[in-house]
Amino acid sequence: MTNQRQEVKMLQGLETILLKENFGEAIPEEYIVRENPRTIVHRHTYGGLSRFFGGLAESVLWGTVCLNQNCKWSDIWLPPRVHCPDCWEAMEWVPIDARGAKVYTHSTINLPGAGFMLTTPCPLISVEIRGVCTKFMSYLSKFGENEPYIGMPVKPVFQKDNPTYTILDISWVPKNSD
Ligand SMILES: [Zn+2]
Repeated sequence: MTNQRQEVKMLQGLETILLKENFGEAIPEEYIVRENPRTIVHRHTYGGLSRFFGGLAESVLWGTVCLNQNCKWSDIWLPPRVHCPDCWEAMEWVPIDARGAKVYTHSTINLPGAGFMLTTPCPLISVEIRGVCTKFMSYLSKFGENEPYIGMPVKPVFQKDNPTYTILDISWVPKNSD
């Protein structure tokens, strides 16, 4: 048996096992089985969080705040929550002033897994923003040597042209960059 035929035989063996697992059917050895990977289109709604993703396309960072006077949370949540995680009341939208934002912590991706949509190295950052009680997870799209570092001042940039309406429409750059 040639190497090529052995290879075909081996592939058929794997596919037969796969078909048995999926359909409970044995496939006769002489049958050629091909696998054709397919993709699907996944549609889902952002529901009550739609304003947040729409805001990114307009260079506005929206958070939510609980206005229930009996609730202990008065700070802004980012990413926003539709309902207060503490008292479950509907929250109110507030635009966030990201001046003074800084890197709270960071980790750089050098070897991405399948499906990673950004270029590498990619510094992932948690951003600390005044008045916001959560740390916002994002990435630094422009950086120099030894950046990012904890406490580094950053500012947001928005992908207004061709927005994807995903979290990738916002990234951060050093505060003093153009
Ligand atoms: Zn609340």
